[in-house]
Amino acid sequence: MLYGTRTTEAHPGEDYNCRCWAEPAFGDEPDTKPWKDEWTATGSEQSLSAGASDVFNNQATGSFKSSIKDIFSSIDSAHGFKKNIDVVPINEYRDYSGTGGTLGYHPLTKNPVFIEINKHPVHKDFLELNTAHEIGHFVDLEVLGNKGSFYSETPFMSEFFLAIEETNPVQKLREALRTGLFRNDLLRQDRRNHIRYLLNKQELWARAYSQYIGTKSKNKKILDGVKKH
Ligand SMILES: [Zn+2]
Repeated sequence: MLYGTRTTEAHPGEDYNCRCWAEPAFGDEPDTKPWKDEWTATGSEQSLSAGASDVFNNQATGSFKSSIKDIFSSIDSAHGFKKNIDVVPINEYRDYSGTGGTLGYHPLTKNPVFIEINKHPVHKDFLELNTAHEIGHFVDLEVLGNKGSFYSETPFMSEFFLAIEETNPVQKLREALRTGLFRNDLLRQDRRNHIRYLLNKQELWARAYSQYIGTKSKNKKILDGVKKH
């Protein structure tokens, strides 16, 4: 969330961007879809010669700092970044909430301002997955397609979403909305809203991206996060 103390460029009330909860997973499902480069090829016509450490300023502390370095290597093994992207800090904080991380961006220009990851113990198994997830939002906004818009919202990604729709977790969530039941429990309104949130394109994209990075690079910590869902 973009509140005043974190950045002076944003305004409370206009801040709806990502509140990322840690589900659902796609990676360890029997019907996992292999990633196809053509899904994102039209979005990355510029040369992508910069690396993750050129784009992100790793401000984390302790062992998480080195985990983030590993995530950078994992991402570099999967794709590059456009040159001349403004550097974005990756910060950590601790907050007892379901929000695992945030990509903060300016509400008007959509310029990315920061990534922050919640290091509260309830998220301890998901720090690396959540970091890759927030970087996924950044890639959606800043790397693929036009600056200032989310590529996942464009028609170029429709084939990607058709594949995502066929996966078990997404079908289960759709079924929960249809039937009003989730794991045989009546779906409360807050849970229903949460499921709708999970099924929005930006979230589905970021979840798929984080698993793609984990799988492609065999990053154990990211993959452990996927498994623990
Ligand atoms: Zn998210």
